[in-house]
Amino acid sequence: MQFSKIIGQKEIIRRFINTVKTGRISHAQLLHGPEGSGKLELAIAFAQYVSCKNRTETDSCGTCPSCKKYEKLIHPDLHFVFPVVRSNKFSKPVSDNYIDEWRSFILEHKKHRLSVWLDVIGNENAQAGIFAHESSEIIRKLNLKTFESEYKIMIIWLPEKMNLSSANKLLKMIEEPPQKTLFLMVSDYPEQIINTIRSRSQFIRIPKIDDESLAATLSETYQLADNELKRIVKLSNGNYFKAIDVIEESEQEKYNFELFVKLMRLAYAAKIIELTQWVDEVSELGRERQKSFLLYVLRLMRENFILNSAPSKKEDLNYFTLDEENFSIKFSTFIHKNNIFDINEEINKAYLHIERNGMDKIIFLDFALKLVKLLRRKAA
Ligand SMILES: [Zn+2]
Repeated sequence: MQFSKIIGQKEIIRRFINTVKTGRISHAQLLHGPEGSGKLELAIAFAQYVSCKNRTETDSCGTCPSCKKYEKLIHPDLHFVFPVVRSNKFSKPVSDNYIDEWRSFILEHKKHRLSVWLDVIGNENAQAGIFAHESSEIIRKLNLKTFESEYKIMIIWLPEKMNLSSANKLLKMIEEPPQKTLFLMVSDYPEQIINTIRSRSQFIRIPKIDDESLAATLSETYQLADNELKRIVKLSNGNYFKAIDVIEESEQEKYNFELFVKLMRLAYAAKIIELTQWVDEVSELGRERQKSFLLYVLRLMRENFILNSAPSKKEDLNYFTLDEENFSIKFSTFIHKNNIFDINEEINKAYLHIERNGMDKIIFLDFALKLVKLLRRKAA
């Protein structure tokens, strides 16, 4: 990972480069700062820069043998320590047991969060930690002589997850490091790291990403209208992971809206064959998505009922996206006090049955057919 892949953080990068130029790389550095600011990515990019055989004033070269190995995170002098979980396969797990998963987590995932990592290693609910056996691995690795680089670099992600005996052994290594060893710790909660390690580390505070850089990166990757981009940048407050969350949510919302419109049109026109095709489409979604769709239907039905009941108070009472509002102006005339309660009941029933692992095709077909009847009910 080169510095050019880092979102914003120009000042921090400049400082990192300067320590290399002046030969003042402090051997234990602790990068901390808000979520989604790029701490872990910065540590990796810095390590690559330090090891690059052909670095420039502004970045690693990206093409020397060292950089090529770094791009795949397989450089023999680069070591990772990160939280892992106990499993049937690994009763005394160490980071190396999960190194393949770790590489794909870093290289293929955008959100480098602990929860995403636990999901990658297939154990979201397990207690993650850096356990006692890790410390002998750390000592063993750092006592190896370097293979190809001047420095041995150990990146420790979330050192606050280290158990006490590991932390104490790491402390010894930090106090009396083998020559040319560089520890880069990346922490979400530095206050939870034992004091003795903290006091021997150089703290480097990584600020949140500036809005301009975040907007530039997002618009390179996603097709976003100007106002949508502004909204996402504002909501994510310099947190890249959060920005991705918002984009994923809004893509899901858009799809929910399309499904909703289709269902309402077909149900009102009583097009039964097309309705069964709609049911086929919905049954392709997973249960969590189906539930989120039903919650979406519940919300839009409520919004339409309110709009129909008090159209003059739209500005105060309704929350619509532009598309939802355009659709609802006409559609809301079909949602009234004579059917809203029954519609809500049907939505809740479908939700409950999905949650209890009922047959989704039957549940959604039943729901769609109920709507055929309820949408045609007279308002008065
Ligand atoms: Zn290079």
